[in-house]
Amino acid sequence: MTAQHIINSIEFTRKSLEIRDTIALSELQRAKDALTSDTESLDWRLTGEIDVGGKARLHLTLTGKVGVPCQRCLEPMMIALNISSEFFLVKDESEIPSEEEDIDDHDYIIADAEMNVLQLVEDEILLALPFAPKHEIKDCAVKAEVSELKAPNSFAVLRDLKVVKS
Ligand SMILES: [Zn+2]
Repeated sequence: MTAQHIINSIEFTRKSLEIRDTIALSELQRAKDALTSDTESLDWRLTGEIDVGGKARLHLTLTGKVGVPCQRCLEPMMIALNISSEFFLVKDESEIPSEEEDIDDHDYIIADAEMNVLQLVEDEILLALPFAPKHEIKDCAVKAEVSELKAPNSFAVLRDLKVVKS
């Protein structure tokens, strides 16, 4: 059972704090429906720092395997997640540069005295899930059905019969 992780994100970066924990499928309120029961507990780590330029940053890493239903056969398939995300802490939205200004395409988080870390962890898991996961053909349960359908081609037989009749 994972405790709720509420941090003061400003303090967290200023003191270079760190949290390491695992999150289980049952704790993923939003991602739960997109995942199968094969999903393993995911290890995550959040660190804070003030970088050399004086900017406050959060760094989240997450590793583990999740099960997702294959969009072809609906059987579970395992996907390894290996997330490493970095966020710059800003005071408010006005500090977030526009897309044109932000040439390095950074991610930003608005500083919060009561930031829910598990929400960030879950957001990152949701973002990392593939849009339409499918097994490799050789591993997919649907491949078998397709070849069975092909084998005796009854339509071809019927067509031949018709030709003979007419
Ligand atoms: Zn499949």
